[in-house]
Amino acid sequence: MPHSPALSAAMSLDSQPPSDAQAPASRKPPFFFREEYAGLIVKGNFMTLAAKPKLVEEGEWLAHQVVEQYRLLEQMIDIIKVVDERTGRPVCNPEVCPTMSASGHTYTWLDNQKKPIKIPAIQYINLVQKWIVGKINDPSIFPTDTTFNSAATYASGSLSTPASTPIPAGPTSLNAPLSALSGRDWLGKASGFPETFEADIKSIYRQMMRCYAHIYHGHWLEPFWNVNAYKELNTCFIHFVNVGKLFGLIGDKEMEPMQPLIELWLAKGLLPQPQQLQAAQLTGKAEAQGSVQQPAPGTAA
Ligand SMILES: [Zn+2]
Repeated sequence: MPHSPALSAAMSLDSQPPSDAQAPASRKPPFFFREEYAGLIVKGNFMTLAAKPKLVEEGEWLAHQVVEQYRLLEQMIDIIKVVDERTGRPVCNPEVCPTMSASGHTYTWLDNQKKPIKIPAIQYINLVQKWIVGKINDPSIFPTDTTFNSAATYASGSLSTPASTPIPAGPTSLNAPLSALSGRDWLGKASGFPETFEADIKSIYRQMMRCYAHIYHGHWLEPFWNVNAYKELNTCFIHFVNVGKLFGLIGDKEMEPMQPLIELWLAKGLLPQPQQLQAAQLTGKAEAQGSVQQPAPGTAA
């Protein structure tokens, strides 16, 4: 699916693209905030997919989740990198998307002087991908990378690094001496993850959220609607949001550009309500027993 054939070939008369789908200033909300376009390709409860198996340490589980979430996001990103045969250019290119924007938000990257700069969305996304793959493959950050090496094969080889490589914003502070950390506890410590692990995966999650926001606000109609892949996009995104909410990896403010769709899924019971989240966190985060008793998802619809 990521490498869909000709984009235009998938267009058909019985699925007229909604004309105002992506007009941010339009009085109507974007189409992807409407219930009829909020469908998924799987049935079931995403809590089951997100819930930590009882015997797995939380750091291990979140490392696994982050790698898996990145793998899914990458498939969606690949779709906006497909060359549109009508223009001979990738769907997301600097002309169409001169900045990394979503619903009035413009995300900036930091240059070498830590100065926020606006760069074309595709350049931003390429840098995010390179940055995330670097984190995932860094054994000092993800020490169990031998188990989770699938992302390595997806490294964005086409990336041409600019002369002054911008660095991502993020609270990362690596290389804290282990001796200074004894006696303290942190997420993933038991599995050998560094103290910065939690901040790192939250940074990764924040950047992935921005990619989803741009994909929806910039490219829902073209290409996701046109190639009939919007349900796949929804499915990847709801899983991403569910894990993020369940484990506190992302805040409401960061999800704001997509809030109407999230509300819609909340109202349908597809995402945990705040009180369910609290209950899950009180019982030692969401473990795959007790708080989750739904049938496994995965049924193709
Ligand atoms: Zn774009």
